[in-house]
Amino acid sequence: MLDSLFEYIEASPSPFHAAAAAVDRLAAAGFVETGRSESWSELDVAQGFAVRDGGTVVAVRAGAAVDPEQLRFSVIGAHTDSPNLRVRPQPDTGTLGYRQLGVEVYGGVLLNSWLDRDLGLSGRVEVQRGSGNGASDAPAAGSRTVLWRCDRALLRVPQLAIHLDREVNDGLKLDRQQHMAPVWGLGEPSAAGFREFLADELEVEPQAVLAWDVMAHDLTPPARIGRDAEMYAAARIDNLASCHAAIEALAGLDSLPDDTAAVVVLFDHEEIGSDSATGAGSPILADALERIAAALGASREQYLRAVARSLCVSADGAHAVHPNYPERHEPRHLPLLNGGPVIKTNVNVRYATDAHTHARFVAACDAARVPHQVYSHRGDLPCGSTIGPITASRLGMSVVDVGSPQLSMHAARELGGGDDPAMLTAALGAFLAGP
Ligand code: ZN
Repeated sequence: MLDSLFEYIEASPSPFHAAAAAVDRLAAAGFVETGRSESWSELDVAQGFAVRDGGTVVAVRAGAAVDPEQLRFSVIGAHTDSPNLRVRPQPDTGTLGYRQLGVEVYGGVLLNSWLDRDLGLSGRVEVQRGSGNGASDAPAAGSRTVLWRCDRALLRVPQLAIHLDREVNDGLKLDRQQHMAPVWGLGEPSAAGFREFLADELEVEPQAVLAWDVMAHDLTPPARIGRDAEMYAAARIDNLASCHAAIEALAGLDSLPDDTAAVVVLFDHEEIGSDSATGAGSPILADALERIAAALGASREQYLRAVARSLCVSADGAHAVHPNYPERHEPRHLPLLNGGPVIKTNVNVRYATDAHTHARFVAACDAARVPHQVYSHRGDLPCGSTIGPITASRLGMSVVDVGSPQLSMHAARELGGGDDPAMLTAALGAFLAGP
């Protein structure tokens, strides 16, 4: 399972790649790929289908003989995006003989973790239609979207030498505008340097490169860590570990209860609040569930009744207890690496878990024979949140927030327990297959 997760993380330097790799995995398990603008009414929901829009995926497989009167959804939600550095629209900058790229900070980045790393670039590029390989002389109107990645060491954000800041270890201060611009060459910055670079990479003319959503990624591959290799380190564990577990659980289902539609939704934009056309704040999941219900022959009334008897597991990274900062944790809620999935609770509904959904997920862990842990945040620290409460309030559906424990959340490279991916996958599989 860990090797499979490593492959998925390496295939997914950006949310767009994470969504594409998820759909590829589902296609290998027999799912059909379709689009939001396609008709779903003729699709075989028992065979399964997946819809990708940018960095977001919705996938479903239903039992063989769904009775619309009894329909219910078992939903797993996760997110494809991770905090990182993203290239600005006019990025070419530099000074004093250095070429630099202007970047904007995406999400709650641990800025220091991006220093002194060899960084590649990836994302999606809008290219003039009709340009590049196989192009005709007269470019057609419009553009096409190209998924692109470069795993050469292109960028680096160099740290200031300690000799030039003797107090740095008393508290590193990084200004997002001034201190995070990577160097990516020597010489005079040219006005179209980045566009020309992309054009070379994509084998098109510079004017054919219309726009981009491009971001930096750490080039260090995932690795087993520790004396007995019982942990692992990788970029984007938050939240590709949950995406991977959700997709593996869905793709690996042997059978489903007759009246269950098993749904996995991987949202983009969780790290910036989920309010976007493809984020958890959008109608994308509600619309998909309604259309799935219709494809299964359910009326609107039957769809709304199905939502009322459904459950969503929102899977996202959980905070393992940190051995060097025990005072940052609630003393009776200390999740451990390799301790199994963590059920996250918060009475102010920063996590959507309630007693009923909590118990439902414990039952799934028991069915999968994996242990579970419980997390509650300290009372004197503001609690983070995730897609769980957003999904609950958009759909009026019961939600439980869970996730694998990890350290270094939102660092460029994070740390997890090597046994946790398989345990989370097993628990999610038992949830989907359960009654
Ligand atoms: Zn997350």
